[in-house]
This record gives sequence, structure tokens and C-alpha cells, in this order.
Amino acid sequence: MTHDNESERRFIIEGCAIPARPIPSGLHIVATPIGNLSDITVRALATLAAADIILAEDTRHSARLLHHYGIHARQLSYHEHNAARMRPRILSLLDEGKALALISDAGTPLISDPGMKLVREVLARGHAVYAIPGPSAAITALTLSGLPTDRFLFAGFPPARSGARRRWLQELAGISATVILYESPARIRATLADIIDIFGDRPAALCRELTKLHEEVLRGRLSEIAEELHAREAIKGEITLVIAPPDEKSAPLIRENAQTHPDWREALKEALQHLPPAKAAREIARRYALPRKEVYDHAVSLQKDSDRPNPPKDG
Ligand code: SAM
Repeated sequence: MTHDNESERRFIIEGCAIPARPIPSGLHIVATPIGNLSDITVRALATLAAADIILAEDTRHSARLLHHYGIHARQLSYHEHNAARMRPRILSLLDEGKALALISDAGTPLISDPGMKLVREVLARGHAVYAIPGPSAAITALTLSGLPTDRFLFAGFPPARSGARRRWLQELAGISATVILYESPARIRATLADIIDIFGDRPAALCRELTKLHEEVLRGRLSEIAEELHAREAIKGEITLVIAPPDEKSAPLIRENAQTHPDWREALKEALQHLPPAKAAREIARRYALPRKEVYDHAVSLQKDSDRPNPPKDG
């Protein structure tokens, strides 16, 4: 359970072995690199080397980091699928006086990563929680974005389905703060289209593969970033999007949205001029986060009205 040999409690930087002092019992939340393995603090390494057990989201993934720094601590997996089962076991280890370190695959644990419930339960049980701060993609992207940093809102991952995502974006649209969100490369194009519809065409920065070999930051209006991505065959890597707060200059460019068309029925009428009812209903239901059936029924009744022959003209 613990290190067999006290001399194993050390870490190695550039060939130099550095002994790690004992750390107190409790849960130590340790931030790890988001790409570049050198982005880790000395305190983080010392904590990982001194911990009785490292709780890792993916033990094989973390083995690479631990191996790089010559750290031999035992790992246990703690991820969203085993968390509920693992928490009682972790609490018992803390009751025994163990020092546990929590890490995620990258960046700061608990930030769109497991750990929040664990911290709550550890605190409720009366054990100590320590933070060993370090990288997080959200803050790294914010500082690179060139956008206001005085007030920002970290929103995590948008919902995967467009209806839920659009409702989620509508909640954020009026907030006077820079918005930071995480998104997968597979969904970024669809998410950008929804953001432009709902937020308007604000300045933004799309930060990809931060601190890695292919690091890239695309700065510009959301529509320019979307255009750039559409021109690419494939979008790969990890993405953090930073979006400027609302201001007068950021009127929607591309399509109408809920603000410019407060009445979805009017938007539906327009859509029916160039789309069949089912497609128009799907588009409007998605855009206004409405039940598709309700919009479709209305589309059919509008269509029926317009199919009626014109009344004969007088005279
Ligand atoms: N806890 C992590 C942190 O503090 O940044 C975030 C974990 S979350 C599961 C992973 C997401 O963070 C990725 O899908 C991506 O959106 C963002 N991310 C992580 N590493 C990144 C990087 N190197 N560049 C850009 N975004 C990154």
C-alpha cells in the first residue's frame, strides 16, 4: 500500500534524483501538464512522489508522466465510471491516515474532470484537502486569447445535442463576461454555428493543442474562425474556445436568431419560402429550442393556408 522503501520517495529531473519530504495525510489535488510534460511544478512532483497512493483517472495514461519523472508511487484508478464505488474505499484509506494524491489525465482535477464529489465527501468526513495548483486549459487559453480577462465565465463542455446546447447557450448569451468552453473536434463546427446564432458574431479565440507541438490559436470573429475550420479537411486535437463578452459591435452576421426574430412563427414563414415543411420545422425547432412536432404542425397549417386558391378577384 505504501512505498516499500523510503528511498523510493523521490523524483528525478534531468537525471537528478530529488528526495520527496513526507506529506500530511489527506487528499492532495495535483494539477498535471495539459501537453508539455515540463509544465508541472516542483511541489506537484514532490507530492506525487511522496503520496502513499495516486488516484488517477487513467493509470496507464498517468504512468507516462510518472515514468518521465522517475516516480514509483502506487496508482489506483478513480474515474467517472468507478467513482461512486471507489469513494468509500478512498475515505477508509484517509481514515487510516494515508496521504492520497488525485490527478486527472491532464490539467487541474475537478475542472471538467472527476473529483468534486470526492472533495465534498472528504471534507464532510473531516479530512484535509490540499491543492497543488498548476495548468488548466481554460486559463491557458484565456491568457492567450487577447480577450478581456477581468471577468470570465468557465462553462465546461456544451451539451452534445443541438437542442440542449442551444438552451445552454441562451443562458450564457446575456452574461457580461468572457466565456470559456471546452469542445471536442468532432462537434466544434456545429457548436460554432449555434454560438454564432445565439451570441452573435463576437470576437473569439479558438485554442487548439495548447503547449503541444501543433499548438494553434485562431483569433477573429466567430464567423471567421468557423469559415477557417470549414475550409479544413479534418480538425484534430484538443480545443478550448474563448468568446468575448457581448457588446454593441457584435451583432449577428450570418443568420437571424432569437433576438432578431422574437417570434419563431415569423422565422418559420421565412424558412418555408425555401425549405419543405419538415426541414423548415427541424431548422426552426433547433434554432429556437422548441419541440419539433409543435413547429411541424404549425408549418403544415401555414402550408395549407398558402396552398388554398386565391379568391377570385372582383370585377
Ligand atoms: N481538467 C482539465 C483542465 O484543467 O484543463 C480539462 C479536462 S477536460 C476532460 C478536457 C478538455 O480540456 C479537452 O477536451 C479540451 O477541450 C480542453 N483541453 C485540454 N487540454 C487542452 C490543450 N492542450 N489545448 C486545448 N484545449 C485543451
